[in-house]
Amino acid sequence: MPEGPEIWRTADQLTAALKDKTITQMFFAFDELEDYESMLEGRKVTNVEARGKAILTFFDNDRVMYSHNQLYGKWMVRENGNRPDTNRSLRVAIHNEEQSAYLFSASEVEILEKGGIEDHSYIQKLGPDVLHPETTFEDILSQFQSDEFKNRKLTTLLLDQGFVSGIGNYLRSEIMFYARVDPHYKLREYSDSEIEELAKATVTLAERSYETGGITNDPEIVEALKRENAKYKEYRHFVYNRTGNRCHKCGSVIKEEKTGGRKIYFCPKCQLEDE
Ligand SMILES: [Zn+2]
Repeated sequence: MPEGPEIWRTADQLTAALKDKTITQMFFAFDELEDYESMLEGRKVTNVEARGKAILTFFDNDRVMYSHNQLYGKWMVRENGNRPDTNRSLRVAIHNEEQSAYLFSASEVEILEKGGIEDHSYIQKLGPDVLHPETTFEDILSQFQSDEFKNRKLTTLLLDQGFVSGIGNYLRSEIMFYARVDPHYKLREYSDSEIEELAKATVTLAERSYETGGITNDPEIVEALKRENAKYKEYRHFVYNRTGNRCHKCGSVIKEEKTGGRKIYFCPKCQLEDE
C-alpha cells in the first residue's frame, strides 16, 4: 500500500505530464461520468495534488477529479497516446498533445466542484497531510499535542489518517525509531520533548522518503552501506522489515511485534527505556 511520499510522487508525475496543457481527449469508464468527457475536453489541468491516499486533479473550470486507488489502482503516464500494455481495466484517461495519463483499476472516481472538496466524505475526515506544501511543522505538532488524541496509543494513532494523513506502516516504525521513543504508550504518556521529537520525525522522514523515493535511513549510513555493497532492502530503513538484523546506530538486534494486525519494528536499545 503506497504511503504519502509515494502518492505525492505520483501526483508530481501527473503534474509534469498534464499541468497547463489543453486536454485533447478525456475518457471515463463510469457511466455516471460520461457527460464530463465533453465538458473537460478543451480545458486545462491546473494542478494535481495528493490528499491522504487520494489524488485531486484540478481543471480550469473549477471542477476537480477525486480519485482513490484503494489497493489496486495505478496511474501510468505515456507519451503520444501510447497505451500501456496491461491486463488492468482502464478507468480514466487524460490526453493532451504530448502525453497521456491512464488510471487503471481504481474504483473510486468522482468529479467535484472546487468549493466542495473539503465536504467530501473522505477528505473531510483527514488530518493535515504531512507533505502538503501548505502544511506547517506547527500543524503537525499541534496534532501531537491535541487533547483529542491524547488517550490513544501511539501505534494506532500513527496509522490513523484523521490524525496526520500520509503516514503508513513503514513510516510509522521509522518515525518512532527516529524520535527514539518506546512504541508501547498512549500519547499522553510521552514527555513534551518526546512529543516534539515525534512531530519532527514525522515531517523529516516523510519529506526524506518523498525526496529519496522511499529511503528513510540517514544519508550518511546509506552511503556507507552502499560502499559495502549492501542491498536496497538492507540500507533503505532503520528498523522497518529488519527483524533479526542489527540496528544501524547501535548494533542491537531489531525486534518486531504485532499490533492491531500489522507489525511494528523497533530497536530495544535505542528505544526502550529499561534496556
Ligand atoms: Zn539501536
